[in-house]
Formats: sequence, structure tokens, C-alpha cells
Amino acid sequence: MSKKFEELNITPELLRAIKEMGYEEATPIQEQTIPLIKAGKDVIGQSGTGSGKTAAFGLPMLEKIERGKGIQALILVPTRELAEQVSKELIKFSKYSLRHILPVYGGVGIERQINELRRAEIVVGTPGRILDHIERRTIDFSKIKILILDEADKMFEMGFSDDVRDIIRQTPQFRQTLLFSATISTDVIDISDRYMKEPEVIRVEVYVEKSMLKQSYYNVSTRDKFSLLVHLIQNDKPKLAIIFCATRQRVDIVAKNLERQGINAEPIHGGLTQSRRNKIMEEFHAGKIHVLVASDVAARGLDIKNVTHIFNYDIPKTDKEYLHRIGRTARAGETGKAISLLAEQDYDNFRSVQRNRDIDIEKLEAPQFQRLPFDLGRRPSFGGESRGFHGHRGLSSGFRGHSDSRQGSHSRFGGSRPRQGSWSRR
Ligand code: ADP
Ligand code: MG
Repeated sequence: MSKKFEELNITPELLRAIKEMGYEEATPIQEQTIPLIKAGKDVIGQSGTGSGKTAAFGLPMLEKIERGKGIQALILVPTRELAEQVSKELIKFSKYSLRHILPVYGGVGIERQINELRRAEIVVGTPGRILDHIERRTIDFSKIKILILDEADKMFEMGFSDDVRDIIRQTPQFRQTLLFSATISTDVIDISDRYMKEPEVIRVEVYVEKSMLKQSYYNVSTRDKFSLLVHLIQNDKPKLAIIFCATRQRVDIVAKNLERQGINAEPIHGGLTQSRRNKIMEEFHAGKIHVLVASDVAARGLDIKNVTHIFNYDIPKTDKEYLHRIGRTARAGETGKAISLLAEQDYDNFRSVQRNRDIDIEKLEAPQFQRLPFDLGRRPSFGGESRGFHGHRGLSSGFRGHSDSRQGSHSRFGGSRPRQGSWSRR
């Protein structure tokens, strides 16, 4: 679960303002950087566009700014639009704790800026115009406590690297320096080496580098899903795997059945207490558990690293959810696999995932695998969830004829097989 802003000890005035803006829970980059910034650390925050970086640096920065004490924070941004956007956002944050926030960029008259700079407490500026003011001696840097480089990669891409360095050198040495960026380039590293004090690096990645992640899918009959899953796990022996299911019930059932096959799998879903979840995560990271069976909701707030395998036991409804799931593997230069098990009831979802052109999932032919029983964990019933999942018979479409050796020729015809995979025997 993401943290509420209350838990991050944001001041009541700021809290009230962001609540009005509709902020409830902190985004991952906010959750991780805000405490460090409050503690006075230099921070490098890397996360994608739209992940809430402005509030990540803006809220803790605002808490440190006092009224009437000169320019205490300088935020450098690459473009005029961003200068406007960031200052507007900061002005909204400080609705109940007014601070003098001034955007400073070129292309507009400088006289007015010079006047307003005398009263400003926070300056959001583009490098060119800020340098201009430095040269004219119309900006006073002596009170600056915090320097923030926002969208640093973009700033360097646009050729502002030297300007930024010139500006940094004009600021007081005893300052806090924050750098936020969607990507970390060599320029970013160089700047941080030179001008930051033991920065904490926080990276929040959702999307994965494609070359490091192999995405594939198998088309199987519903009744074979579980058997193929077990086969793949036994074959690949994943170091850390997460199996995603559509519902909490499915999570429990799949985990139980894996246990029956001797695979130590823990279910993790919204019905567990936070302390239970933390414990499972600890064991998972310590390598005591290799397989987690999870629902999307449960997995969303979890800090899961170095996962080698993602299995989509059920295909998620949207490309976004798919990317969220696979974003948990292939991190930090390691390779990973994302394997989707596709049966008839997944076709609609799969089509909607594949509508995203950036998602490239290779089709694989299912290997030979042994067909295993699958206990639905309930008394046989009519209707309900069992139909459409593991309960149905006579399915021939989608069946690819990868028969288990024991079944022989039977298995080519779904309907003639014994009802494996559908029984509930206890
Ligand atoms: P970034 O700088 O990472 O691209 P922004 O700071 O511009 O992202 O935030 C993107 C949008 O998300 C903005 O409209 C912002 O108001 C909103 N936002 C940021 N944090 C939260 C939050 N915790 N809850 C709800 N909305 C948020
Ligand atoms: Mg931004």
C-alpha cells in the first residue's frame, strides 16, 4: 500500500491544500524521496513522466522556506512552459501557507522580474534567464538553502549543461541539492559527482528496458493452464517468480495447488494484514520463498525487486496493468521473463493488451507437459466461477495438441478426456 501523506508528516497547511487537489496517497517517488529531503539529504530522484516529481521535491522544499527571508530555493527547469507549470503547482501547494513563488524565464520583460525578485522566496527559472540575472546582479543567491534541478536530463539534452554548472557554482556551498530526472545520463552522473553531497539515489521504474525482458505467451486450453504453469516453473526454476491472478480467490486456489505439487508458493492479496505481507516479502527477498501468487491490487504497493519471472496466469484487462506487472522484472540490468498463459477466456483481455503497439509478446508453442489435477477448493457447483475457468468440458478450440504422454491420443479431443483439471476431490 502506498503511504498516505499524513504518514509522511507533511505540515497541515500543505496537507489541506493537496487534499483539495485530490491527492490522497503518495506516489512511489514521493513516498521514497520526501522523507530523505525532509532529513536534509541530497537526493537524485529518477522516475517516469507523470509520476509526481513536482510534489516529491516541492512539498518538502516548501516546508523549509520561511517568509521574508529572501530567495531560499532555486528550481531550474528546461523550458518556459515548465517554469510556469511548476510554479503554478507550487502556488497551489502553498495555498494555506503562502510563499512568494516566481517563475523566471526569457522572452518576457526583465524589469518586472527584477522588481519581483526582490520579494521572491522561491524562484523557478530557465538557465538562460537566470544567468542573465546573475550577470546583471539582479538576483541574490546568498540565502539559497535548496537547489533543485528538475527534468535534469532534458535540461542537458537541450544544451544547458554549461549554464547549469555556472549557476550551481554561484549558489552557496552549504545547500541541499536535489536532482530529478526521468532518465540518468552521463551528464547527470557528472553533475551529481561534482556538485552533490553523497546523494541518495531513488529510482522508480515502471517500464522495463525491452531487450532485458523476454515476453512470451502460450495458447492453452483452460484445463491445461495449471499443468503448463507447473511444468514451466519446474523447468526454469525461477529464482523469484510472481504469478498474477485475476481475483483473490484465484490467488488462493492457485497457491494451494502449487503447494500440492511441491512448489513452495505464498499467496499475497488484499485480505492479508500489512505485517503478514511484510513478512512474506521479507521471506521472498531472502530467497526463502521463490514463488508468490498475487493479485494486482496486492502487488501494486509492494516493493518487489529482482524478480526473474512474471507469470500472467490470468491476462490483465489493460495494457497499463500488463506493463505494471512486467515492470517488476528485469530491473537493474538483470534479465527477466514475462510469460502469459492464454486460454479462451483471456482472449478479449489479451487483445486489449496487444492494442498497445509498444508491447511485443512472442508466441511460443507449448512444450510437452504432464497433465496435473487442479483442485478448485470448493464443492462442485453449478454455474459460478468454476465455469469458464477450470470447470468446463468439451473444449476443443484453443487446444494445441501438446499431449501428455500418459494421455496419448485421447488428449487431442478435449471432450473425450477424463475430467482432469476440473475435479474437486478432498
Ligand atoms: P512528473 O514531474 O513526474 O512528470 P508531475 O509532478 O507533473 O509529474 O505530476 C503529474 C500529475 O499528477 C499532476 O497533475 C499532479 O498534480 C498529479 N499528482 C502528483 N502526485 C499526485 C498524488 N500523490 N496524487 C494524485 N495526483 C498526483
Ligand atoms: Mg516534472
